[in-house]
Amino acid sequence: MAKAKVDASTCIGCGVCTTICPNLFEMGSDGKSHVKDGADCEGCDCESAKSSCPVGAITIE
Ligand code: SF4
Repeated sequence: MAKAKVDASTCIGCGVCTTICPNLFEMGSDGKSHVKDGADCEGCDCESAKSSCPVGAITIE
């Protein structure tokens, strides 16, 4: 099952991924996107979130 990761040092906090996959990504108090605990890509379009990230901070494995 695919799992997404966000490189917090690369993320610029634009919020695009949290809009595309709100069940998977959430904005943290640091202003960066984080993957919710235990969340996976089932039922969302995290490939689209990955390709839409302007800085390539999302990886899926
Ligand atoms: S789309 Fe990329 S830069 Fe924007 S909040 Fe998500 S991980 Fe960060």
